[in-house]
Amino acid sequence: MLRKVFGYDAFRGPQQQIVEHVIAGGSALVLMPTGGGKSLCYQVPALCLPGLAVVISPLIALMQDQVEALRQAGVRAAALHSALNANDSAAVWRDLQADNLDLLYVSPERLAAGDLLDRLGQRKLALFAIDEAHCVSQWGHDFRPEYLQLAVLAQRFPSVPRLALTATADPRTRAEIVTRLALEQGRVFTASFDRPNIRYLVRSKDDAKAQLLSFLEAFRGEAGIVYARSRSRVDQYAAHLRAAGHDAVAYHAGLEAGPRAAALDRFRRDAGVVVVATIAFGMGIDKPDVRFVAHVDLPKSLEAYYQETGRAGRDGLAAVAWMVHGAGDVPQLRRFIDDSGAEPAQKRLEHGKLEALIGFTEAAGCRRQVLLAHLGETLALPCGNCDRCLEPQERVDVTVPAQKALSAVFRTGQRFGAAHVVDVLLGADTARLRSLGHQQLSVYGIGKELDQGQWRSLLRQLTAEGLLEPVPDGHGGLRWGSEEPVRTLLRGERRLELPLPPPRKERRRATARSADGASDPSSAGAGADAALLSALKDWRRQQAREQAVPPYVVFHDRTLVELAASQPGTLSALAGISGIGSAKLERYGEAVLAVLAGWRNADAAQPGP
Ligand code: ADP
Ligand code: ZN
Repeated sequence: MLRKVFGYDAFRGPQQQIVEHVIAGGSALVLMPTGGGKSLCYQVPALCLPGLAVVISPLIALMQDQVEALRQAGVRAAALHSALNANDSAAVWRDLQADNLDLLYVSPERLAAGDLLDRLGQRKLALFAIDEAHCVSQWGHDFRPEYLQLAVLAQRFPSVPRLALTATADPRTRAEIVTRLALEQGRVFTASFDRPNIRYLVRSKDDAKAQLLSFLEAFRGEAGIVYARSRSRVDQYAAHLRAAGHDAVAYHAGLEAGPRAAALDRFRRDAGVVVVATIAFGMGIDKPDVRFVAHVDLPKSLEAYYQETGRAGRDGLAAVAWMVHGAGDVPQLRRFIDDSGAEPAQKRLEHGKLEALIGFTEAAGCRRQVLLAHLGETLALPCGNCDRCLEPQERVDVTVPAQKALSAVFRTGQRFGAAHVVDVLLGADTARLRSLGHQQLSVYGIGKELDQGQWRSLLRQLTAEGLLEPVPDGHGGLRWGSEEPVRTLLRGERRLELPLPPPRKERRRATARSADGASDPSSAGAGADAALLSALKDWRRQQAREQAVPPYVVFHDRTLVELAASQPGTLSALAGISGIGSAKLERYGEAVLAVLAGWRNADAAQPGP
């Protein structure tokens, strides 16, 4: 079924185990990262088992794309949701009564409405698949009350396998899914949450707009997402990108429904659209060929960062997650939390999340190791695909500056935040300093060898090393960490080596010079003839337009890359290309061969080099 219908050679990760488990009648929770291949886990059993597979999915746009993609593969699939007109839904009902469907996609509210459950009860059912299952969790970030009603499936259809699928990486949400959907008897399948094709690049903020533009240079014509914290910043950045010639659209909850839907639609259907968005732009972005996700503001948490960056590179081709952050961002977020008016316990939790995020942005070693450790996975070796691995930083001896910083924290009374401590070290002349009498301290002005950014980085790293720690009242003050290491460092019995950012005046030049964003972000085309690839993309765009479907529904980039690289000349050779099943072979085979042949002839007509 995998080969014939979907055109793939082999299952990925735990797919085969899951498929076998479901075909044998078992229920399960499936935890796989975005792009991990969750859909096949229920689509293959749906085709192998007799009867109808019902897929519950929260978003209409997502359902439609899935149904369209399945139909292109020759599968009898349909969707029932509120946006369907009377004719179309009558046709779905007829197909349902006549057992003419293999897969039915339905929204959770539609499933609970009217007599749909009764009607389903009269048919032979293969399985239930509950997509985006974390929507059932009140603890998680996408809670949808309609999902709670899905508990009824276990009672009404105890013998039909239920498969809950999610990319959530948070144990508490996972546990809630199991109880709410009554999956205690089922198995749990977990794939690694690593996304090896995503390159993580973290930059220190200098001039974020200029840095973003220079990063985007390598991605002209590619689709991507830029996340910013507020609506106004989204609007500003979108305008800024458009002024620089990018096809950028803004997306946030403050837009009217119309323009918002239009932005989403353009992103899904057209090539090379950059969406500048708040976190409101999230679930349901199943576009496989998003080549970059950029953060110009810090995300809310490391989990949020993982989910947001996970929207890049679902097709498994190279993609980049890029982020700029500045020294001022963390204190600002701390203040947001402090001023939020939340319960103390909630505030502590939020501060904890922020600390985890700082652990990532300030990591001296591999980013991916930090990220995966946060998700409860261990990556034994550095990944080789993040800025820390690709651009190893030189460590310098910071023993003396670290001693000065520890002294300054001590002399000021172990209660001030990094900003104030750095002011003292640099000998700043501020009203606050004067009123506190801190100009009289012996540590005042003793740290002119580093600039503000370097001191900030050093303080964060000393915190990461446990030599300093936040004062637990949550006001952002710093105090000494573990007694013994602090003492040995101060007595000079131990040397400390850490990387430091370059001095401020050199930083701007360095940013301008480095063609940021990965040596070859679009190794999408690596090895393939780039011009042939773009001819194939033109052909695909035309097909997609004629059928009013997103281009990737016709063929994924990956399939086009393989076509361009191996240039098959016959139908049977075409059938060996990943992503070309029998229905697509029949539908597009001749046309693809014609594009390839046209290309070869044009090539032959060129005089040799
Ligand atoms: P998820 O829903 O987990 O985010 P999808 O089911 O959309 O991921 O799959 C992501 C991509 O990987 C899709 O383009 C899909 O066709 C592809 N894919 C999934 N499984 C396989 C496989 N076994 N072989 C090749 N490609 C696969
Ligand atoms: Zn790494």
